[in-house]
Amino acid sequence: MPNKVIRCYCGFVAEGDDGQLVVAVQGHVREVHQMEYTREQVLAMAEPLD
Ligand SMILES: [Zn+2]
Repeated sequence: MPNKVIRCYCGFVAEGDDGQLVVAVQGHVREVHQMEYTREQVLAMAEPLD
């Protein structure tokens, strides 16, 4: 599973495989933005990482 990167509009950056990104970003948006993202919403934000 290739690693991907997600850059939140607030400056938060998460890297990892799909499972790591979902955990990291769901936790981030819950804590910082008081939002709930589904797995599909998180993965839709992911960009390939070289
Ligand atoms: Zn953020």
